[in-house]
Amino acid sequence: MVEGATPSLFISHGAPTLAIDESPAARFLGRLGAQLPRPEAVVVASAHWLTRAPLVTAAEHPGTIHDFSGFPRALYEIDYAAPGAPPIAARVRDLLVAAGFDCGLDPDRGLDHGAWVPLCLLYPEADVPVVQVSLQATAGPAHHHALGRALGPLREDGVLVVGSGSLTHNLGELRFDDADEGPPDWTREFRDWMAGCVSAGDTGALLDYRARAPHAARNHPTEEHLLPLFVALGAAGEPARGTNLHTSYSYGVLAMDVWRFDGKPAA
Ligand code: ZN
Repeated sequence: MVEGATPSLFISHGAPTLAIDESPAARFLGRLGAQLPRPEAVVVASAHWLTRAPLVTAAEHPGTIHDFSGFPRALYEIDYAAPGAPPIAARVRDLLVAAGFDCGLDPDRGLDHGAWVPLCLLYPEADVPVVQVSLQATAGPAHHHALGRALGPLREDGVLVVGSGSLTHNLGELRFDDADEGPPDWTREFRDWMAGCVSAGDTGALLDYRARAPHAARNHPTEEHLLPLFVALGAAGEPARGTNLHTSYSYGVLAMDVWRFDGKPAA
């Protein structure tokens, strides 16, 4: 652990109902905020904001985006009113531009559920400022690792960098009635392979997960929900190894892993 640097996190956010339903993952996240160093702000890279090139939310009061359909009314009534942080948004933009990214600010965008669902459990008072940075759906792991690496210095200033996605994410294979049977082999084997690499800090293997991990394409038919892991990993610096804080499964096939990284951010 590096004295003084705020960790980076990868959080699996599962379904939006994480915000309102009892579950092991929700209980864990409900305790996590108080266990972390109190951050100045949170910068979230969410699987639910995908743009051609990176954008950063710069609103002083970002709205709550209910970017899902068919869920209980209680979810649509949640207004997660955390303030924005325009100076930190500008710093994020500057860091990304300095690292060679074509990055701009979005003055209007609010918080999508990939950001506010876990944050309403971590910081239910909505009193920690939040900035989001967008991902690029087809740019791959190395691009997002570099993006996270560029964000690493924020950790030295007390900013919590969060990648919010899902360690496994095949919505076509969700199980609604036999969740007690435990995950199928193709989910568990992928999750365990990833967990081994994250624990070992094997960045090379992780960046090549699509070729090396068992059942990679079945667990991520599209990879936007795994890309936030590479942002958190890049922000970790060295050593890159992560600490598993939580593991459980929801809907049979969604691994709800939470990982913490405490390396020294890249200069
Ligand atoms: Zn999601």
